[in-house]
Amino acid sequence: MPRLVKRLQERIRQDGPLTVEQWMAACLADPQDGYYMTRDPLGRAGDFITAPEISQMFGELLGLWAAVVWQGMGSPDAVRLVEPGPGRGTLMRDALRAAATVPGFTQALSVHMVETSPVLRRAQQAALADAPGSARWHETLAEVPDGPAIILANEFLDALPVRQWVSLGNIWHERMVDHDGRSFIYAPGAALDPSQVPDFLESAPEGSVFEVSPAVEAVTGGIAARLCAQGGAALLIDYGHTERGHGETLQALKGHRFADPLAEPGEQDLTAHVDFAFVRDIAHAAGAATWGPITQGALLERLGIAARATRLLLNASKAQAEDIARARTRLVGADDMGRLFKALALTHPALPAPPGFEMTGED
Ligand code: SAH
Repeated sequence: MPRLVKRLQERIRQDGPLTVEQWMAACLADPQDGYYMTRDPLGRAGDFITAPEISQMFGELLGLWAAVVWQGMGSPDAVRLVEPGPGRGTLMRDALRAAATVPGFTQALSVHMVETSPVLRRAQQAALADAPGSARWHETLAEVPDGPAIILANEFLDALPVRQWVSLGNIWHERMVDHDGRSFIYAPGAALDPSQVPDFLESAPEGSVFEVSPAVEAVTGGIAARLCAQGGAALLIDYGHTERGHGETLQALKGHRFADPLAEPGEQDLTAHVDFAFVRDIAHAAGAATWGPITQGALLERLGIAARATRLLLNASKAQAEDIARARTRLVGADDMGRLFKALALTHPALPAPPGFEMTGED
């Protein structure tokens, strides 16, 4: 029996069922056996693929986004370029290469990677070995030293644990994970205090599930407070929804296929869609200006993915040209990532609209 299965069974036997939040945290981040602690999950041979791994255009356009934001900040002498959850370091490597074309930006920036996985840290160190910005690594965003910051986060918020509530007999309960002697199963937990339950959940049908992430709340609140106090901007890209509501989005991926989130703890990726309306509200409450969310497709089109692809095609072989066209469709296509993925920008309230969000207006 895998070690994490045994340890989670034992923990449930001793202390009772876990919340879904505790389950997700243990599966992903257990220091010995958590999914991210033990492997590089990205790429064809792994469990899932992300935008920067699909094409260099993604990181390049985000690097130029960061450079233009820096200019909008008045081109300060020192700015921190921060990436939480940087995977293999591909996005940052591509971003730094593209941003080097903007005079002065490379000299002003210092790179800060926020990563808990020792395996992925090693991959990131290799990816950035020759890159400018003398990258440093941190366990949490709070450890990144003070100063104006530009923060890029792709598929980071979706990896943070969610609580699930389930509606039973018109009362919302915490949803738990129990073990029935054979497998892990969902079970209802304690009833929630009705004053905690937002109004839009009142008419949800019996058995509905609602997800809320204290970790997303803490991270977003922390980023927004930092930007307000010290200047800068953040770009958060993830799959998610723009209207608040009930619905279960916790999902497992293994070998590029959907799997049961309660099966094989520590051996498959677990994510939940990001509630962008919630993220925007949290950031707003902390004093940041918020822009969007807009779709990833709209963002990349406005940042000039068409021109970038045309430029790359100039030196491409036939096979490379097909790859570039395919990658572009995957990133912006409405049936691919273009619509499901959303982008939300947060800025210090005095900053102009960040690139791609000019037509959106500030909230
Ligand atoms: N942004 C990358 C990787 C996405 S996968 C890309 O687009 O390819 C999620 C990343 O978040 C991984 O690097 C994972 O190790 C990291 N991660 C997950 N939980 C984290 C946490 N609490 N703090 C810091 N990094 C975390």
